[in-house]
Amino acid sequence: MGTHPEVPLLDLQAQYETLRSEMEEAVRSVFESQRFILGDEVRALEQEIAAYCDAPHAIGCASGSDALLLALMALDVGPGDQVLLPTYTFFATAGSVARLGAEPVFVDIDPATYNVDPDSLARAASGCSRLAAVMPVHLYGQVCDLDALERFAGERGLPIIEDAAQAIGARDAEGRAAGSRPNIACFSFFPSKNLGGAGDGGMITCHDEALADKLAVLRVHGSKPKYHHQLVGINSRLDALQAAVLRVKLRHLERWHLARAENADRYEDLFRKAGAVDSRTPLADGGLPLRVPSRPAPPARHVFNQYVLRVPAQLRDPLREHLGGQGVGSEVYYPIPLHAQACFQTGQPSPALPVSEAAALETIAIPIYPELRAEQIEHVATCTVDFLERNA
Ligand SMILES: *Cc1c(COP(=O)(O)O)cnc(C)c1O
Repeated sequence: MGTHPEVPLLDLQAQYETLRSEMEEAVRSVFESQRFILGDEVRALEQEIAAYCDAPHAIGCASGSDALLLALMALDVGPGDQVLLPTYTFFATAGSVARLGAEPVFVDIDPATYNVDPDSLARAASGCSRLAAVMPVHLYGQVCDLDALERFAGERGLPIIEDAAQAIGARDAEGRAAGSRPNIACFSFFPSKNLGGAGDGGMITCHDEALADKLAVLRVHGSKPKYHHQLVGINSRLDALQAAVLRVKLRHLERWHLARAENADRYEDLFRKAGAVDSRTPLADGGLPLRVPSRPAPPARHVFNQYVLRVPAQLRDPLREHLGGQGVGSEVYYPIPLHAQACFQTGQPSPALPVSEAAALETIAIPIYPELRAEQIEHVATCTVDFLERNA
């Protein structure tokens, strides 16, 4: 038995070691202040995130899930309303809609990018009578086709809420940052995101001042002035400790994005040498049964919150098991499309959303975190290619 490097899916310890002293100082200063909720640290983070995302307003809140919920609340989405969103995403995208008594209307994805397919969006919309919003997702760190979505939404007078939870710092086809378009965008600081806190946290960017004010009121139970309520809000405040931690990490975020992109380059190089092509080519077209992520051309930027491969369905779980045996962590994002979740069954048959259903069976995320070393990447690539060559 040879020894091999351990490669966890994510290694936050490796990142913490490079930040320890900065972090201790930031956390100590919050303790010295004994001001733990909102306050100056949160305000400073909001300004820094607004500048980073090139958005006029940013409002901190308790999580990315709450960011989505607050955005919908601010648009007065409620019972009977319909919201278009991809079925292939994290649960919170649809959960936020359902929590308000509104109906998530599930849309299929593009097989190359895993983001909303504009044609499927138009088909789903044609069966709707109470559309209130469109909620696309920038999955894995790649901005969806916002030009097509804005055209679609503009023609129908619908607001867009971008679920940018995985995409802080990502750039669209024109090189504009996620959050910089005149939509509402929702970000998450869950520890596994590219900018992750020491716990939960979230942020909403928007372009309209009245909307920004409303979001800031909704996150404190709708209270303005204190103890006076025109609106029923929720408690979704961002902690000063989280803001202090995130402000330290924000200073390193560009470097981490670059390191993730370099890791993606290394993987791509190794996989292509072994015969892989990118996800624009269907698996059925042959060659080594491995598809690497399709990357947008600059100035667009994928920030690789996840690096997701595609393999034939019958090899996906055996590959995961093989990788696990070689010390390599992996995950499936996401094994069950949301339209197939028990909580969203309506008694009517679900619509066919075949691209998402296939992706749920064929995708596997491998380690991409910034601190990965070259030999770890080589180990992951070698294990993956060896397994596929033996079993294809
Ligand atoms: C992480 C995530 C969320 C939710 O963010 P939390 O901060 O965990 O609540 C929402 N949507 C997507 C696509 C996510 O990846």
